[in-house]
This record gives sequence, structure tokens and C-alpha cells, in this order.
Amino acid sequence: MTMQSINTPLEIRAEKRNSYMTNLQCSGCGKIYSIEQIHTFCPDCQSTLLVNYDLKSARQHLDRDEIARRLKGMWRWHEVLPVIDPANQVTLGEGDTALLPIKSLGETLGLTQLYVKEESSNPTGSFKARGLSAAVSRAKELGIKKVIIPTAGNAGGAMAAYAARAGMQSMIYMPNDTPHANIVESRIVGAEVILIDGLISDAAGMAGIKAREEGWFDVSTFKEPYRAEGKKIMGYELAEHFGWELPDVIIYPTGGGTGLVGMWKAFKEMEELGWLKNKKRPRMVAVQAAGCAPVPLAFQKKAEFCDFWVNAQTVASGLRVPKSFADHLILHDIYESNGTAIAVEDADLLKAQNELAIAEGIFAAPEGAATLAALKELVAQKWVHPDEKIVLFNTGSGLKYLDKN
Ligand SMILES: *Cc1c(COP(=O)(O)O)cnc(C)c1O
Ligand SMILES: [Zn+2]
Repeated sequence: MTMQSINTPLEIRAEKRNSYMTNLQCSGCGKIYSIEQIHTFCPDCQSTLLVNYDLKSARQHLDRDEIARRLKGMWRWHEVLPVIDPANQVTLGEGDTALLPIKSLGETLGLTQLYVKEESSNPTGSFKARGLSAAVSRAKELGIKKVIIPTAGNAGGAMAAYAARAGMQSMIYMPNDTPHANIVESRIVGAEVILIDGLISDAAGMAGIKAREEGWFDVSTFKEPYRAEGKKIMGYELAEHFGWELPDVIIYPTGGGTGLVGMWKAFKEMEELGWLKNKKRPRMVAVQAAGCAPVPLAFQKKAEFCDFWVNAQTVASGLRVPKSFADHLILHDIYESNGTAIAVEDADLLKAQNELAIAEGIFAAPEGAATLAALKELVAQKWVHPDEKIVLFNTGSGLKYLDKN
């Protein structure tokens, strides 16, 4: 021990951690859970567990400008990610996606500051990579060897890829009409893919049973605490891009809602870290397809939970989620942000996909294109103003859906 460390107070010596994660907390009843054990969701009230960090201590030791100089990628934010030992980070190069100014389409819509956060450049062609990188890394750290997921498509492909890289076994339940690319990308990295005649909600039931019977770890959306942590980094990236001020409006295609809930959590964390220049928070807009719109319907009714959407149907397979496990959190965050929820017809989101491609050269996933269709509606309603900073999320590549459209 050096002279200096003898004289250093304990709190200050406990600095410079790879992660400032402290514990897990139930988003329903507030109960605290230890990070030492493997947890799924709260056994008491069946709500999602979220990760807490010692942000007071992080605030003293973290320098946002130093983080900006690190090697690009999601893991440069490791202090606010849930992996203790850097050796457990499983990465394929996710994160630090482009934030593209959308001048020409913006002009057509009468908007001066329109952007697309271009998530299709993530590994496996969608932003699911971020969440699964975090979840598989943490699973590895906790000694998990087998991961299972029910998926509408992209989450399965991402989980399979990260599991392969981590040397884990993977099993995937997906509807038999999931885009072909999702099946191929999962199988080629070694996942066992089970196609079912049903929706993601049916797949979830089957994966849950399999997990219990054979000891697979279930990484279903919001049924484990860590996927949302990877997704929240999109919020950190936005703040950094905009010079530590947040945009006015974020338009997000919502299925399970990890990105929306994750980013809202990130904004709160950054406030506690003292990183944000002001109190301005974006209005969060959840976009769903008219053929599966539990969130817009609940929003209209000012409800706290969603009703299960019967006969869900849309080409935007990632939005075919009849009821998110974290519907309460999605709705809470929309209300708290003074946001809204919009449903768009498949015909309109496909038209928007074409427009974004022609005008800007972006071949968006149908889910991502849905945000443009929703924006048109919000412009018509004068819900957005001409000079507001508006960010659309293109969550995946159109190339993954060639058999469906
Ligand atoms: C999964 C998915 C979504 C929905 O994301 P959530 O975070 O689950 O709401 C949107 N777009 C694409 C391309 C997806 O794969
Ligand atoms: Zn609880």
C-alpha cells in the first residue's frame, strides 16, 4: 500500500469501478434484489426489475468528455452498464450509430431539425444487438451457459449471435411467419430455432415452460433486467450528439418497449450524473401498427396497463407484440414525458419506407419507417412544431424483410 492510499478516505479510494451497478429494484413494488444472484422478474409482484447504479460516486469520478475519447461503441459507457469484469463484455461492435440530419424530407414536412438515428448499422442489422450484448454479457458473468428467447424476429437473431460469441448454447421460439432472414441468421450461428404456429405471446409461453423444465435462462423482453441497459445507451448517445441537451421529440417504434423505457431511464441517470445542460426532456412518442396497437389504445383511455391485443397483424414484425410485459412502464414514461402514442396503417408505413429510401437513401425496416408515417400525422395535428428537434428511430435494416414486403 502506498503512502497516498493510506491517507485517502475510504469513499474516495472506492473510485474508478468498471461498473457502478449496485443492485436491482422492482419497478412495481420497489423491492431490492442483489446483483450477486441470477434474477428474472419480481417473484412478489411479477414486475420488471431495473438496474440501479451508484450515480453519486460515478458523478465524482466520471468525465463525460473522457468517455467521448474512448474507442467507439456501446461499451465505452461501461460504468453505467451492468458488467463488473470487462473480460465478460461480449461485443460485436454495437452502438455509436449515426444520427443523420434529414434535410430533404424535413423540408417537405416543414421541419427544420429532423434526424434519423440509424440503428440498422448495428451487428445483426437491428438495435436488438445493443440489448442482447448487455444481457448475454451479464449472463456470462453470472455463469449462465444456455439462453432461450421467444421473439418476433430480430431479438432471436441478436441473441443467437452474442450467445455464439460467448460460447453459450441458444434456443429460439419464433412465429413461423417471421421474416426468413431471422431464421437463417439464428441457425447459422448455431441456435436451435423452433417455429411455432402462433404469435410472440404464444412463443413466450412455450419458451417459459422449456426454460423451467431444462434450466435455460429466459432473456424475454423485460423478464430479465439487463437488455434495457444496453438499449438505454441510445439515450446517452443522443445527449452526447446534441452537446448534452436532449431533443424535443423522440419517435420510437414500440414493441416490448425496451428502447423507450431504457432511454427514459438514461435521461434520469444523466440528470443525476450532472451531465445535462438543462431540465428539458423529450416528449416520447410510441408508434405501433394499426393491426397491433395496444399502447395507443391504452393511451387514449389514459390507462395504466394495456389490454391484450387480439388477432395482432402487421408487416412490421417487431411491432407484433399484443401486450408487453412492461406495458405499465411504457405508458408511465409516455405520460411523464408529455408524449403520445400513435397507430399507423401498414399501407402508410410501407409508403413511408419508400419515401425515406427515395428521399434520403435509407432502406429502413418497416418498424423504423412507421416513425415517419407517425410523424406525418403529428405534423398534420400540429403536435410537433416546425423548429423542434425531432429524432426518428430507424431500428433495423429493410434488408432483413425481403420475403415479407
Ligand atoms: C424489436 C424491434 C422493435 C421494437 O423494439 P422494443 O424495444 O421491443 O419496443 C422495433 N423495430 C425493430 C426492427 C425491432 O426488431
Ligand atoms: Zn415487485
